[in-house]
Amino acid sequence: MKNIASSEEILNLKTTDVYFLRAREVLKKAGINPRVVMEVTCSSRDLPWITLSGLDDLTDLMKGKSVDVHALPEGTVFPPRDIRGIPIPAVKVAGKYLEFGMLETPILGSISQASGIATKASYFKKRVGDLPLLSFGVRRMHPALAPLIDRNAFLGGCDNVSSIIGAERIGKKAEGTMPHSLLLLVGEEEGWRMYDEVIEKGATRIALVDTYGDEKESSLRAARTIKGLNGVRLDTPSSRRGNFADIIREVRWELDRNGKNNVGIIVSGGIKEEDIGPLKDAGASGFGVGTSISSAAAVDFAMDIVNIDGKDKTKKGKYSGEKNVFRCGRCHSFLVSVNQSEMCPKDGSPMVNIYQKIIDNGNSVYEENLEASRNYVLEQLRWFE
Ligand SMILES: [Zn+2]
Repeated sequence: MKNIASSEEILNLKTTDVYFLRAREVLKKAGINPRVVMEVTCSSRDLPWITLSGLDDLTDLMKGKSVDVHALPEGTVFPPRDIRGIPIPAVKVAGKYLEFGMLETPILGSISQASGIATKASYFKKRVGDLPLLSFGVRRMHPALAPLIDRNAFLGGCDNVSSIIGAERIGKKAEGTMPHSLLLLVGEEEGWRMYDEVIEKGATRIALVDTYGDEKESSLRAARTIKGLNGVRLDTPSSRRGNFADIIREVRWELDRNGKNNVGIIVSGGIKEEDIGPLKDAGASGFGVGTSISSAAAVDFAMDIVNIDGKDKTKKGKYSGEKNVFRCGRCHSFLVSVNQSEMCPKDGSPMVNIYQKIIDNGNSVYEENLEASRNYVLEQLRWFE
């Protein structure tokens, strides 16, 4: 494929905006290359909170450079601004400008998109709660991005993913049901029956029940056809939905009336955040979410110089000085400060500087643990609305 940049091309600045290379030319000619501190912030007030993600790619971009990089821990959930309205720097980089300044484009691209996907997955998980949330959206984005999408969807709160490479990236077995094409090719009941016969024992058995007829009637037939049926999947086209929640309610009722209480109802097909509550109330027991998560808007991160050779300096609209990011152990408020320690302005409790070093003079000290980062996200979701 011609439209994919390799890691090598990215590190060789082929995906960098040309104006950074022009700046480098001028700086080299002028013999100017001071030590700077640059911070990554999101000043926009569009998102109530952000799930930070993408430190894996950030680390790959920065290791081997003579720089120090601090970041909020992977999976930190934070408001764009602290309790005084100061934008929270998610990442700060210190080093000679020419050592890393030209990587601003891929640095921002990596964490902006990764965090956008993780944040959207968190918004969904917040509503879905303990029920399974599956990432089904790789088909709507360039295939080269499948590992990126599924890794960050999982970190943000999805329980599993549908793509093989995404599942490998998160160390799990991919999750899925059956496509309409199978039932069109083999026939509905024969398709269910053969699926049960052919697919490995132990794999979940979810029958697709909206191909031709009524979801309620098909669900009962599927439950009769596959003995150990785990669930049915409703992917009803929007043209036939009417009230999707009511369809689910009816299916749940009839399954229960026929002793199929153990058969769950998985819903998919253009599910939006606001759909989750009503579908859950109606009896949905799992959600496959595609485009809403995979094509989530990128977080609007920007990267700015805040200190040059030890002197605080920045552009208008930004806040100068190298900062730390504190979080209160009691009320979980955030405070941005140039100090080394802080007490919570709200309740007087000691605050913790939550920055972690991920690059120490060019050496990566970032250790990825996706399961732990995801659990960290889930724990913090309780603190945010
Ligand atoms: Zn507090």
